[in-house]
Amino acid sequence: MAGIREIRINPIIPSESVLIATARGMRPRQAEAPAPRDARVRVDECPFCPGNEAQTPPTILATPERGDWQIRVVRNLYPVVADDDPRPPFQFGLQQAIDGYGRHELIIDHRYHGIALHEMAPDHLQRLFAVIRGRMEQLCAADERIRFVLAFKNFGPAAGASMKHTHSQMIALPVIPQNLLDEIDHSRRYHRRHGRCIFCTLIDEALTFEATLYSKETGEIRRQVRAGELIVARNPRCIAVKPFASRYEWEVYILPTDHQADFLRADDETLSHLAAMVGEVMGKLDRLLGGVQYNLILHSAPRRGCGGCANSFHWHLEITPRTSIPSGFELGSGLFVNTLAPEEAAEQLRRA
Ligand SMILES: [Zn+2]
Ligand SMILES: [Zn+2]
Ligand SMILES: [Zn+2]
Repeated sequence: MAGIREIRINPIIPSESVLIATARGMRPRQAEAPAPRDARVRVDECPFCPGNEAQTPPTILATPERGDWQIRVVRNLYPVVADDDPRPPFQFGLQQAIDGYGRHELIIDHRYHGIALHEMAPDHLQRLFAVIRGRMEQLCAADERIRFVLAFKNFGPAAGASMKHTHSQMIALPVIPQNLLDEIDHSRRYHRRHGRCIFCTLIDEALTFEATLYSKETGEIRRQVRAGELIVARNPRCIAVKPFASRYEWEVYILPTDHQADFLRADDETLSHLAAMVGEVMGKLDRLLGGVQYNLILHSAPRRGCGGCANSFHWHLEITPRTSIPSGFELGSGLFVNTLAPEEAAEQLRRA
C-alpha cells in the first residue's frame, strides 16, 4: 500500500483536523522518549509516600478511612486556581479577564510510589474512579459557582507530570472550557439534526460499518472500511475506540456503550467495567510502547450550564500517549500530524 495521505476531520470537533501521513520513512515529528519508570514501592523523600502525610496539605479524603490508606485526596500545594479572595471580572478595551477562581485537588492514586495504572488491581482502579466521581460531585455541590470539573492524569515530564509518585488531579472551574464547549455544542447540533447522540453513532459505526468503494473508471478498489477496524477492546459496559481522526499515534477513547452524559451518574457496575477497560488498554500501551508518557482526561457533561445536553453528550476518557512533540507546523496550522494510520494502530493494540 502506498500509505495514507489525507486530512481527516474530527466528527466531534470539526474544527480539529488531523493530517494522516504514513508514507514510509516519513517522520515529520520528533520522537518523545519513554519516561524512565520508577517502579519503587516507597521512596523516603517523596511527600506522597505513606509516612510522609505531614508534608502535603491536609487530607480531604482517604480510602479506606482507617488503617493504611490506598487512595488519598489533598489540596494541590501549587494550585493553578483557588477559591480564596474572589475577584471581579475585568474588562478594559480588548483586555478581558475572568478571576482564576476554582479548586485544584490532587489524588494520590495508590500508596505504592511507582505503580502504573495497568499494574493496579481492578478493584483498586474501580475505587479510584469512584473517588473521582465522589469528589466531582462534592466540588459541584459545595460551590454554586463551579460549573465544570476536569479530572485528568499526567504521566511523564513531557505530559506535564512534575511528581513521580502516581497521582491524578481535579480542577473545578467557574467556566466551561472551550474544548468541552465545542464537543457539547457540536454533539447537540448533531442530535438536533439526526435525533441521535454522535458518540453512540460513532460506537455503532465502528462496530458495524463495512464497505468497499471501487473506482468508476478502473474498477480498482479505492477504499475499504472493515467492521471493527477502529475497535481496540470491548467488555459488557465499555468500549475502547481509536478515533478515525486521531491527533496522536496511539490516542484511544474509552466510552460507556450505553448512552450516559454525566459521569456522576455512572453506576458501580459501569465503573467496574471502566476500570477493567482502562487496565486493559494501559496494559496494551505498555506492552507496545514501554513507559510511554501520556495524558488521560475525563470529559463529562458539566453540572451547570450545559443547556440540556443529557441526550446529546456522552462522557468519555481520552488517553493521549505523548510519542511525539508538536512542531511549528502543528502549532502554526492547528493541524495535527499523525504518521501512523489509526486502523494500523488499532490492529496492533488489539493484538498486544
Ligand atoms: Zn512516593
Ligand atoms: Zn451517547
Ligand atoms: Zn472529549
